[in-house]
Amino acid sequence: MAIDETCIFCKLAHHEIPTQVVYEDDSVFAFEDAEPQAPVHVLVVPKDHYQDASDDVPDELMAKLMKAANKVAQIKGVDKSGYRILTNKGSDAGQTVFHLHIHVLGGTESKSRLF
Ligand code: AMP
Ligand code: ZN
Repeated sequence: MAIDETCIFCKLAHHEIPTQVVYEDDSVFAFEDAEPQAPVHVLVVPKDHYQDASDDVPDELMAKLMKAANKVAQIKGVDKSGYRILTNKGSDAGQTVFHLHIHVLGGTESKSRLF
């Protein structure tokens, strides 16, 4: 498994640092965002290290991440009310952690439509 020893999300996904786990399987890990921007704000990450969504992520893994994001919405009880899934790449998007992560946001009506 490809892990970056200096990466905080690698450490979280491999239980080296405790966190509030929402969902986990053999290739995906989901946990509560430390600074939630909505009542529901969960991050879904691959256990393997990829910088962002453009980092040659295998198709199968990308599909697993998307499925896990939808499962997280069910677990958090926002699957009926609605939610947003998004991922940031690079500085204009405001990416701050360079391990691919999908934000799952919900629990209230969104104030902005997209960006
Ligand atoms: P981004 O701006 O897309 O790179 O988002 C990074 C997200 O990671 C932010 O929403 C942070 O609040 C969140 N974050 C950073 N460090 C941690 C951590 N140790 N545990 C949980 N969430 C974190
Ligand atoms: Zn990592």
